[in-house]
Amino acid sequence: MWKIWIAAVGIAVGTIGCHPRQHSISKNTGATDTEVARSPVPLFDAAHAYRLIEQQIAFGPRAPGLPGHDSCRRFLRQFLTQYADTVFEQPFSQQVYGVELRLTNIGASFRTELPVRVLLCAHWDTRPYADEELEPRNQRVPILGANDGGSGVAVLLELARILSQHPPPIGVDILLLDGEDYGKAGDMEHFCLGSRYAAHHYPFPILPRWVVVVDLVGDREAWLPWEEYSWRSAPELLQVLWEIGAKHAPSVFRKEMVAPVFDDHVPFIQAGFRAIVIIDAELVGNRSPNPRRRYWHTLRDTPQNISQGTLRAVGQTLVEWLYKAAP
Ligand SMILES: [Zn+2]
Repeated sequence: MWKIWIAAVGIAVGTIGCHPRQHSISKNTGATDTEVARSPVPLFDAAHAYRLIEQQIAFGPRAPGLPGHDSCRRFLRQFLTQYADTVFEQPFSQQVYGVELRLTNIGASFRTELPVRVLLCAHWDTRPYADEELEPRNQRVPILGANDGGSGVAVLLELARILSQHPPPIGVDILLLDGEDYGKAGDMEHFCLGSRYAAHHYPFPILPRWVVVVDLVGDREAWLPWEEYSWRSAPELLQVLWEIGAKHAPSVFRKEMVAPVFDDHVPFIQAGFRAIVIIDAELVGNRSPNPRRRYWHTLRDTPQNISQGTLRAVGQTLVEWLYKAAP
């Protein structure tokens, strides 16, 4: 993801209200009110989520074209196949900076019979260059992406386990997005390749009522603010999620608005979806007053920065939303 410094991009995104693709979404909830009311809220296993970050890290950097990218894709597909009703790959290729990239979004669905659905996304690719490193020769080295890539995927994989063991009251689709972090600094065109593709070639049969993107959700001193594009797209969803989040972790879920962050929710918003991002926005651009937290797009994005507490806060918030409050 990238902080929006460029006014033109803000304007482009700001105009989407003029030409949204309206989705007709059934009012029928698919489950009865009593079913919804009785759904217990399962527990999010943060230790499992932490291990899932380590498992991704074990493949090395997962930037497109690297061996770790291919092994991780197989791992994610196999993992989801254990739990979901349906799993698929959405392959596509794209020329970027003179290289033909082979990219794959990975989809999984739970309770495919229900017409009211939400989509949860995280990017599974990692940045091919540590361009925020000071030392020039380090700037071309691919990052490990424990938080940037690893954390969001880990939260959604642990959710997949929960969704298989405790059928949710609404339909849930998960899409792990490729090619989020390929763009060079400031080149917005080449960020978020997987979400751009998915928003225009929506891979599930039923459109979701909401799209929730999680990214950079594992830091041990995370703070998750309201992000401006999300606010413009779905303010009521931010309210509901942060209401739940603040109950679990008030220092993490803070109802404070920050500048727009260009992330995988934006292509969905541009295509007419109602989408938000849950993101530790202060990490983006390395502007934290805390030196330890200035590791975004560097070789220091490693599991040492991650805490189970933050993973739990985010994961349990999503669980409670899915089982009690959504859509
Ligand atoms: Zn990134």
